[in-house]
Amino acid sequence: MSGTMMHQQLTINSLIDHAARYHGGTEIVSVETQGGVERSSWGAVARNARLLASSLDKLGVADDAKVATIAWNNRRHLEIYFGVAGSGRVTHTINPRLFPEQIAYIVNHAEDKVVMFDATFLPLVAAVRNHFDTVEHFVLLGPRDDRAAETIPGLLFYDEWIAGGDADFEWPEIDETRASALCYTSGTTGNPKGVQYTHRSTVLHSLAGNQPDGMNVSAKDSVMPVVPMFHVNAWGIPYVAAHTGARLVLPGPNLDGESLARLIDAESVTMSLGVPTIWMGLLDGLEKTGATAKSMKRTVVGGSALPPSMIPEFRDKYGVELIHAWGMTETSPLGTLNQLLQKHEALSEDEQAAIRLGQGRPPWGVELRIVDENGAALPHDGETQGELHIRGHWIVDSYLKRDETTLTEDGWFDTGDIATIDADGYMVIRDRSKDIIKSGGEWISTVELENIAIAHPGIANAAAIAAAHEKWAERPVLIAVKAPGAEVTEDALLHHYEGKIASWQVPDKVIFVEALPLGATGKVLKNKLREEFGGVLTVAK
Ligand code: ADP
Repeated sequence: MSGTMMHQQLTINSLIDHAARYHGGTEIVSVETQGGVERSSWGAVARNARLLASSLDKLGVADDAKVATIAWNNRRHLEIYFGVAGSGRVTHTINPRLFPEQIAYIVNHAEDKVVMFDATFLPLVAAVRNHFDTVEHFVLLGPRDDRAAETIPGLLFYDEWIAGGDADFEWPEIDETRASALCYTSGTTGNPKGVQYTHRSTVLHSLAGNQPDGMNVSAKDSVMPVVPMFHVNAWGIPYVAAHTGARLVLPGPNLDGESLARLIDAESVTMSLGVPTIWMGLLDGLEKTGATAKSMKRTVVGGSALPPSMIPEFRDKYGVELIHAWGMTETSPLGTLNQLLQKHEALSEDEQAAIRLGQGRPPWGVELRIVDENGAALPHDGETQGELHIRGHWIVDSYLKRDETTLTEDGWFDTGDIATIDADGYMVIRDRSKDIIKSGGEWISTVELENIAIAHPGIANAAAIAAAHEKWAERPVLIAVKAPGAEVTEDALLHHYEGKIASWQVPDKVIFVEALPLGATGKVLKNKLREEFGGVLTVAK
């Protein structure tokens, strides 16, 4: 027998309608691409989202078309998130740091009809647009610019174009299982693969990821997403901010530590989100600018492992709590978030910090398991390592235009990560399965080797890789970047491992480099390092 309650579709336009109706006056602060800070509000963003949707209709863009963005975190990008998906179309956010050939590949693969971009990316778009097979319209996110108009024939200018739209536009009825946004994996192996989120998966992800023991964003917060809106929807923050009515501080193109430090103080940011490399830069920026970050209460850190030294540094110097989170493009991205339980309150600060270094627990809506190489489930004892599987409401089922499912026979998604899970569900990523070092019959976690190296004051960054070895098959080699002015030697760094891990886990060699190669989402490209240094232990001596 069915119940007797109203049934409504879980759609993205319901989020922006809520923000407009109940938080219409709340500010949206946005650092402009051309410099300067502009102030808008949820009410004005919602109005522009409708203008945009009706302008797309007028242009004859099909009501399920894919609309690509190449843009920073700013107000217009936010309006596109809601105007495009809210009208039934699909927002395809593109990472501008991809190679031009990769951008052309994904635009063609997605069959994008419109490309909207910030002025920064005009040269990029102008250079690759002839390789776009399906794109009919280009929109520059800003006011009219006559010089830009000469570069791309028929170029539209967002501000004047949407001004011709209809502010009374009504959102269409949308089935919650329809596609709302599209993101490609960064494709460190093979061609990028498209993950297409639905309205329903997005709404559930926002609600569940934003519980008090998760991201914990409220209407009282001023949230600064540093994680790009082209990187898994800025971890869902645009949607979370709309349904909570939080104030947003969008940092635009200036993501260096000093600019962020100044913005935090100037706009009284209370919480933020980003990858560890950004926070390393911020610590430096706070130091240099003398900014206090007094307003800042917490920061969500994810995308790669949180270096242990960062927790006490943020806590003791700035009173900022770090919430470690794990996820991937295929998981929308939130898979786990790390907050403590009631029983942990009695523990010392150091014991608490040790728990918080892990990647945390799944919110309602997703489940985790670990399995061995035959797919048999392994115990959740906090020690046994296995391949991490996930399933839930916002986990990928299949990639765009690939009919076959990506799941195991019993319906789980294999993350490609190696992890432990304890009895409370706290998960710790030990490594990616393709990175872990297999020395003899034993596994060595590259994450652990890197964390120890980064804790050394003379080391700015480090990556451990597997190098081929005659006797042990693979042995660890550490590729390290010295801190500015530091004099650390290979011997001193290897000494630093003593007593911290078993002696057979200590790297065989340290190679100092000027910088580590980074991929499009700011992660170290270990495959590049393996190509370059994977043979250093076998070459003739
Ligand atoms: P890509 O797979 O191309 O790197 P994603 O952004 O989807 O792109 O990355 C997901 C991967 O990033 C995860 O599978 C995991 O290996 C890593 N990752 C994400 N968050 C964390 C974290 N907090 N700690 C360690 N690794 C992480």
